[in-house]
Amino acid sequence: SNVLVCGGTGCTSSNSELIISKLKEEITIKGLDKEVNVIRTGCFGLCALGPIMIVYPEGSFYSRVTPEDIPEIVEEHLLKGRIVKRLLYKETVVDDNTIKSLNQTPFYAKQHRVALRNCGVINPESIEEYIAVDGYSALGKVLTEMTPEQVIETIKASGLRGRGGAGFPTGLKWSFAAKNQADQKYVCCNADEGDPGAFMDRSVLEGDPHCVLEAMAIAGYAIGSTQGYIYVRAEYPIAVKRLQIAIQQAREYGLLGKNIFNTGFDFDIDLRLGAGAFVCGEETALMTSIEGKRGEPRPRPPFPALKGLFQKPTILNNVETYANIPRIILNGADWFASMGTEKSKGTKVFALGGKIEHTGLVEVPMGTTLREIVEEIGGGVPNGHKFKAAQTGGPSGGCIPASELDVPIDYDNLIAIGAMMGSGGLIVMDDTTCMVDIAKFFLEFTVDESCGKCTPCRIGTRRLLEMLDKITSGNGTLEDIDRLEELCYYLKENSLCALGQTAPNPVLSTLKYFRDEYIAHVTEHR
Ligand code: SF4
Repeated sequence: SNVLVCGGTGCTSSNSELIISKLKEEITIKGLDKEVNVIRTGCFGLCALGPIMIVYPEGSFYSRVTPEDIPEIVEEHLLKGRIVKRLLYKETVVDDNTIKSLNQTPFYAKQHRVALRNCGVINPESIEEYIAVDGYSALGKVLTEMTPEQVIETIKASGLRGRGGAGFPTGLKWSFAAKNQADQKYVCCNADEGDPGAFMDRSVLEGDPHCVLEAMAIAGYAIGSTQGYIYVRAEYPIAVKRLQIAIQQAREYGLLGKNIFNTGFDFDIDLRLGAGAFVCGEETALMTSIEGKRGEPRPRPPFPALKGLFQKPTILNNVETYANIPRIILNGADWFASMGTEKSKGTKVFALGGKIEHTGLVEVPMGTTLREIVEEIGGGVPNGHKFKAAQTGGPSGGCIPASELDVPIDYDNLIAIGAMMGSGGLIVMDDTTCMVDIAKFFLEFTVDESCGKCTPCRIGTRRLLEMLDKITSGNGTLEDIDRLEELCYYLKENSLCALGQTAPNPVLSTLKYFRDEYIAHVTEHR
């Protein structure tokens, strides 16, 4: 038997490490060491049910496992071959004698895993397991069968757009850096995921770190770079550890370093740890931080493709974007472009949180509606409450009200309804939520995280928050709401970087759909 236990941050925080050690201990006591493998994987997605365990070959999905359950699992299931029914995830139970696979449950049925394909499937600390699922064969293919131009054309033809939020076409970005001649170019990975409620990138790094390394090496070959940097939050210790292990293993296997696949191509990757400043997720601030300086944004142009890290041509993509690259190379641009909508191809990972039955990580084809995500995959809003809105894109995003539940989610549709894709945080709110409070919550975050370099953002976000305080404390007027809106537009137009330019979005989108709640705050107390 193979016993897979989630070792992602979610399950680790609910004690999966203790489960793993207890399991190994009990397996030894029962003399099953030779027959049973215990494998620590990355995130399965159903974080609310952790700690999670799957026992193969039966595929029994045990949820909320406690250390006290382990002797029974080992004795009954692993020794006697009898599934422990009381611990099964209820959606997998068909009847007394039959269980169905996880892929047939409502949570997984509509998902399509490309970026998350290996998360919860392989041991992320084993390069052999990654290689066994075609790992590094995309790198082998580009180095031995493709020119850098062909790689870029493939990525362009796939229609892949940046998953970090802005949605810029990835192939086009690579082509700009490829064209610029320089003695050194850089490939960077933005793993400084900082939106409240977002953990997509963390899960990829924890569950499948080699896919990011492989993709960065492919990008290096495409643009003519020999050095990559991953800028990862120090608050992600499991991701950092697994990246360190993966880099070391890839070097030992000759898949990073000199003369990869004996093709003469050199490429290596180093980690840089971010110290928790949200603004360092902004591309120019991130590069300034890698350079060893205070992580503040710098004006663009020049764009990174011309003058990026250390003033050299640089590409920067986020973790999820890279996670798609090896599959695009192996399966082809047409395969990727066959998923999604006309202008947003492929899939998108969302971190589902808030007032929803199944909090966790999901990956769906672009064009899936919010209703499908919330009601079918997420299991709907709990405790008999009604869906009110979902916030996408964190502090730079906006809210989607119930009236837009059937809009197919893609980059352009979300912008059209006043929200944005952002990196993929999706927080569901029910009918007990005050939308002005939500706007205030995000503003408090941006006030804290504004780096202070430019006045519109440094002072403007603070003034916005004061105005929201005045409104929510019942001391505001209708004119205050108009002034609030006016200041939002001023900030959008005059801030130096995306943090300030997008900081007013939560206010603007709640004003757009829930202006009556702002008005109620300033009229009902009088
Ligand atoms: Fe700093 Fe805000 Fe200006 Fe960006 S917009 S440079 S975060 S002060």
